[in-house]
Amino acid sequence: MDYERQPYRRCGRSGLLLPAVSLGLWHNFGEGKPIETQRAILHKALDLGITHFDIADRYGPPIGAAESVFGRIFPRSLRDEVVVTTKGSNPMWDGPYGKGNSRKHLLATLDRSLARLGLDYVDIFYLHRDDEETPLEEQVATLDHMVRTGRTLYVGVSNFSPERTAQAARLLRELGTPLLVHQPPYSLLNRGIEDALLGVLEEEGVGCVVYSPLAQGLLTDRYLNGIPADSRAAEGRFLTADRVTPEVLAFVRSLSKLAESRGQTVAQLSLAWALRDPRITSVLVGASSPEQLEANVAAVDRLGFTEEELAAIDQAAKE
Ligand code: NDP
Repeated sequence: MDYERQPYRRCGRSGLLLPAVSLGLWHNFGEGKPIETQRAILHKALDLGITHFDIADRYGPPIGAAESVFGRIFPRSLRDEVVVTTKGSNPMWDGPYGKGNSRKHLLATLDRSLARLGLDYVDIFYLHRDDEETPLEEQVATLDHMVRTGRTLYVGVSNFSPERTAQAARLLRELGTPLLVHQPPYSLLNRGIEDALLGVLEEEGVGCVVYSPLAQGLLTDRYLNGIPADSRAAEGRFLTADRVTPEVLAFVRSLSKLAESRGQTVAQLSLAWALRDPRITSVLVGASSPEQLEANVAAVDRLGFTEEELAAIDQAAKE
């Protein structure tokens, strides 16, 4: 592991440091892709000082497979050198206890995740999304119980509104289990968290690990000459070809020019841009090859932006 390759940033006001660039296992890990590619991506991540792997109970396909693969290929001797996360909330099995944020579902889904991962505990357990039908008190008490029973070291929420995040943070503080982190989407194509969420996180001392910072690949050169057969848009499960619009392509082309003047690719510029705000702890990237991951981590070689560059990016977004 090269611990000099990238900076480690403090997660909110906690004791935990996370790498600026972290790896997510949503796509690219599971039964659909060659195990050797998955192993090569994981080993490349470890070489690049990526100490943070983001997973969820549902990631695959099939459901659960990303955790099973991680459990198979992760070198166990490195357990104390990495942060492994999982999440619960989304549908996992049939019946009233197969989904949602009830204590009944969450404890069962975490125990199944631990079995698939082959771990005694995860480092962070997230509520994958809010569940307005389950009292927030029950949701956070379950998180607190997970920490107290040794199933997870820290807890987080994902896709929660600013208001509910503030409430969850307050309730968790009362229980003595601080809210470590929020995981929202954030990219040059999705800047919603700038309105209110980032302010709440700063005030509450909660870290921010952002997902899809490359908008699933749109903010790269991947689609500039059509839709490659091996791309996520061609697969069409979560990124559909109709999202590759002329407007998006025009934006990426203007970003490419700016990126070039900074000696970066558009993907590297997009990641550096997301990291320009100190409230963002880490960007969670996906990678379908070790080469993509290596190129993405190189974003940290030029993180700073001038006011002019930021203004030019905002202008390009408006055009
Ligand atoms: P990204 O925005 O980083 O998209 C990753 C995809 O972009 C890759 O699979 C690849 O697509 C393409 N790509 C990446 N690097 C390059 C490059 N250098 N050049 C060209 N193309 C590139 O992130 P994801 O959408 O994958 O999300 C990252 C992680 O965030 C997930 O794995 C998951 O852990 C988390 N997440 C959490 C969610 C939540 O609700 N909490 C929701 C979604 C994600 P291709 O496959 O076409 O090569």
